[in-house]
Amino acid sequence: MSTTEPARSRPKAARGASGAPQVRKRTLSSVITTQVRRRIVDGSYPPGAQLNEVELARQYSTSRGPVREGLQRLVQEGLLVSHPHRGIFVPVLAYDDLNDLFVARSAVERAAMVEVLAHGVPAATIAALEQVLGQMELAIQAHEWSGVVAADLRFHELIVEASGSPRLTRMHNTLSGETRLGFNILVKSLEGQEDYLEEHRRIFDLLASGDQEGLLAELDNHLSSGLRTLHKQLGDPADEGHWHDHKGGVHPVVTD
Ligand SMILES: [Zn+2]
Repeated sequence: MSTTEPARSRPKAARGASGAPQVRKRTLSSVITTQVRRRIVDGSYPPGAQLNEVELARQYSTSRGPVREGLQRLVQEGLLVSHPHRGIFVPVLAYDDLNDLFVARSAVERAAMVEVLAHGVPAATIAALEQVLGQMELAIQAHEWSGVVAADLRFHELIVEASGSPRLTRMHNTLSGETRLGFNILVKSLEGQEDYLEEHRRIFDLLASGDQEGLLAELDNHLSSGLRTLHKQLGDPADEGHWHDHKGGVHPVVTD
């Protein structure tokens, strides 16, 4: 029995560069990507926050190279945005960004659903979706909204993965990251959304029964009701309802 103790007072950054510095550097940059991604999606780095390369390099006891590389990957995923001469920030998604995000999600998810139904829904997908619906229900009962969001995103990811298209899956992963960013402000407002679980159950039933027309209509309904809820949170687009307004202002520098 191997006991891999979880990071037991191990130094955060790899040290002792003997051996393969290139590999070490790459590993470190992906560790930075993973950890920063988690902080963005859990809201520790709120929309509008600026990430400080120097500070992150200090935290990870490394040079700026791996940090820049790690952050660049998140820029590609849409979880960070780079402003020339100003720096790298957690994006503040506005009204139009949300519309665009949901248009893109709808396109990818519709294509995936058509593909899944054309080949038949794999039994493993049915089982996994049922499990996720169970997790969603438990999370709703426990008022654990981040768990609800995680189950929601997983539900949609499973359907796209079942299409068997690596490209649709890749596109959807990017959109999921941004959706998660959007959900950060939505989390509390899920309270009282009784339809939430029901909408996913209807999608599941229609998928399982192979009713393509009904399924696509229900997806439209589900995505547009999600979008409506987000817009409600944002307020009127006329007053530039940016998410950070909701959170009480831009947070200039966030590091910990
Ligand atoms: Zn959903």
